[in-house]
Amino acid sequence: MVRSDTVWPRILALTEFDHSPGGCWRWTGSHNNRGYGMVGVPTGRPERRHTMKTVHRLVQVLLHGELGKLNALHQRWCPHRDCWRPSHIYLGTLSQNVADAMALGRHVSPPVFMRDTHPTAKLTTAQVEALIADLTRGMRQTVVALKYGISQPQVSKLWIEHGPGRREKSHRAAYHPDLAS
Ligand SMILES: [Zn+2]
Repeated sequence: MVRSDTVWPRILALTEFDHSPGGCWRWTGSHNNRGYGMVGVPTGRPERRHTMKTVHRLVQVLLHGELGKLNALHQRWCPHRDCWRPSHIYLGTLSQNVADAMALGRHVSPPVFMRDTHPTAKLTTAQVEALIADLTRGMRQTVVALKYGISQPQVSKLWIEHGPGRREKSHRAAYHPDLAS
């Protein structure tokens, strides 16, 4: 079990973010010999304090839970193996069929668990409610932004519009004598 509160800050600190549409979020820490970003994750066991994980897979685990036999794979159009931007990754199996399809460019990846994280995508009402609940529990806006694939200013805006302070504000606006017309 990966503890996200210890791992997220490390991932965020060692990433170079390109926030333009389609931009890659590249790991600047250590890499393995295949070019994938590698991050040490505390095990909680004294005999072996850290275990190395590939960053793009670890992020998928943090977002979706354990992946089982699924692999975290880069979209064909993402050129960087050390990129972990959630919208650049999909989950699939490395069966020969999939590999063949990818080689032929026919792979349109049923992204089973992947959220639509395109910057222009609107969150569903249920997602906004979940996002507000995460913030209310004390999750940081930067982490929430990553979890839902939106920017931190967008999170801030949602919090203002939908957070617990909203009702009070609209109440004031409706009933404050200065604002009554
Ligand atoms: Zn990428």
